[in-house]
Amino acid sequence: MTMPSPSFSAARRTLVIVAGAGVGGAGAAARRRKITAETSLSRTRRARRINAELAVIHPDAHCELDFRTPLELTVATILSAQTTDKMVNSVTPTLFVKYRTASDYAGADVSEMEGLLKPTGFFRAKTKSLIGLGQALVERFDGEVPGRLADLVTLPGIGRKTANVVLGNAFGVPGLTVDTHFQRLVRRWAWTQEADPVKIESAVGPLIPRKEWTILSHRMIFHGRRVCHARRPACGACALASWCPSYGDGPVDFEVAARLVKGPDAAARERADALRLPVRTSEEIADLARKQSA
Ligand code: SF4
Repeated sequence: MTMPSPSFSAARRTLVIVAGAGVGGAGAAARRRKITAETSLSRTRRARRINAELAVIHPDAHCELDFRTPLELTVATILSAQTTDKMVNSVTPTLFVKYRTASDYAGADVSEMEGLLKPTGFFRAKTKSLIGLGQALVERFDGEVPGRLADLVTLPGIGRKTANVVLGNAFGVPGLTVDTHFQRLVRRWAWTQEADPVKIESAVGPLIPRKEWTILSHRMIFHGRRVCHARRPACGACALASWCPSYGDGPVDFEVAARLVKGPDAAARERADALRLPVRTSEEIADLARKQSA
């Protein structure tokens, strides 16, 4: 029987012990079979437990796009397609000074805006969307970003995912942001087998209290970026192992898995490695991270 090492970040609170699981081994297969037979009530309980653990693992989960108004968040979210939030945040300070209102976007000079948006990629399409957004807001919504999903999705460059980001973070209306991380994680957790984002939203919504939808989306994005990567999920360092039917899709050895984790604890581990400090457990890494941030 293989006993994985304690979870990485969340080992501050939880010692994850999962029996009988190796990478792609019989343990993982058995767990998948068990999940297939799961009742709807059990799935809901497991989903809520995962959400609670995510809150412990990622207490800093939040919208990583910088914004002050619904218009700024709408623009930033449109720009975030096919690029990183960090890249968007490097461009928006200049953009937001130059274009302050929907009218500013509506009347923008195309080549000037394209020049500003170039670093974010797909800059011609994004420029077209932002100018179209400004025009639509001026023509149909008195220059204001509407706070209703049905209205938002009629605007250029805004699909359901972007609309939910804007509603959840600028208007306080709970929404599930079904992005690539969200889709991968719900499949790994067997919350749903649906592939269509709208169907995923409908399947996941009833599992989690509505008021938690926005923060759940942030936690999932953080977990997808830091731990449960598309190619090599850091299973051996993941505090969700006990509730995850896909445990074993990535390395289960703690030392191997911990090196796949990104984020603040990963930085502490890298520093320990560079200084050749004898750090061996997740608690020691957490201690080191605390000392470094003090
Ligand atoms: S697949 Fe691995 S890393 Fe992803 S949630 Fe499950 S146990 Fe964690």
